[in-house]
Amino acid sequence: MATKIDLPVIASETQGQPLVVACEESSDAKTLPSLAEWRAGAAGATATRQPGHAGAERADQIPREYALMSQAELDERIARARAALGARLVILGHHYQRDEIIKYADARGDSFKLAQFAAERKEADYILFCGVHFMAESADILSEPHQRVILPNPAAGCSMADMANIAEVEELWEILDDLYRDEQAQADEGASQPIIPITYMNSAANLKAFCGRNGGIVCTSSNAEQVMQWAFARGRRVLFFPDEHLGRNTALKMGIAPERIAVWNQRKDFGDIADEQTLIDAQVILWKGWCSTHQRFSPEQIAEARERFPGVRVVVHPECNHETVLAADLNGSTEYIIKVIEASPAGTVWAVGTEINLVKRLAQEHPDKTIFCLDPIVCPCSTMYRIHPAYLAWVLEELVAGHVVNQVSVDGETARWAKVALERMLATRGA
Ligand code: SF4
Repeated sequence: MATKIDLPVIASETQGQPLVVACEESSDAKTLPSLAEWRAGAAGATATRQPGHAGAERADQIPREYALMSQAELDERIARARAALGARLVILGHHYQRDEIIKYADARGDSFKLAQFAAERKEADYILFCGVHFMAESADILSEPHQRVILPNPAAGCSMADMANIAEVEELWEILDDLYRDEQAQADEGASQPIIPITYMNSAANLKAFCGRNGGIVCTSSNAEQVMQWAFARGRRVLFFPDEHLGRNTALKMGIAPERIAVWNQRKDFGDIADEQTLIDAQVILWKGWCSTHQRFSPEQIAEARERFPGVRVVVHPECNHETVLAADLNGSTEYIIKVIEASPAGTVWAVGTEINLVKRLAQEHPDKTIFCLDPIVCPCSTMYRIHPAYLAWVLEELVAGHVVNQVSVDGETARWAKVALERMLATRGA
């Protein structure tokens, strides 16, 4: 019989209070963006706050009337707008979105699955992407020219994606170019390339394009190992950005020695690297980026879960640090976590190290199993949380009126090279 465990409860905005959590992005308690803020005194079209992470020059903006609507009114207006738009509209919901958003989604999935879904729905003129900015960019790159991708709230970025920007990556690339000049000359004669860039899907379109132009590739958390093998078949080293942890977990799994893995800290002089020889000896150079949500999970939480619930199975996302991945029973992408829990027998107890909205949904959808989040302090992805039904109602009604607001559009040249890197990744599947 399944053990009864009280899951952490996320305070609902309908209770009138913004959600306050302890979050890594600052050492202080952080208030997640909430329409309660508008209700508490916003006037006119309001910009509340800049995102807390670097690089996102986007702000939460919404006409006041939408911020003040009740959930019932929002439901009704969204349903009316959807009916008016019919097959011209498709709504996509990432697994980390809260239920109030997922209930409107025509498809739910991880970022790549949703972009592929969008590309297959060619009859849809409008793709409403309830996720974060880099996901909407990827959907725009993979969709048809007539399709318009809309991110309901442009302030929904990804703090990890924002930790790598094109200027910083190009600066490192120039350093590496100088350092590996002799190897490059050999490569021009047919030897392996000195280094191959790999960007995680969670990155800006211009970084995917950088990889496309420089013989590199994109990876997701489900195919990172396969992609790294592809890179080592062509090059002596890999530059992996922006997630240090996914890069390290993958490299160690492939048997790369820890001393051949270097970390480039873009915030410090010369990346906080001891000397040039370190970069020459390295097989993998990791960018110092991380996911604020996944880095909250720890081996101590796993030890506690095992002590309290003997027999518990622990599954975590590979964006967690290596010690946590080692302490878990299993690790894998969001889609992997869903599949492994779905396939487990009734009565199984699962401690899960990933975003809380997904964990809560898994618990609701599998009442025959006990599923709980490893982290006792609730920390949803604060950037995903910026998508609220009020934004959906606003952008949908604007579409019905013939106006496209909050469109995410990648320029042609960037899209062309980003697609090269994405297509290389797709080709590794068939390899
Ligand atoms: S969970 Fe982490 S990696 Fe995913 S969108 Fe949120 S901040 Fe980015």
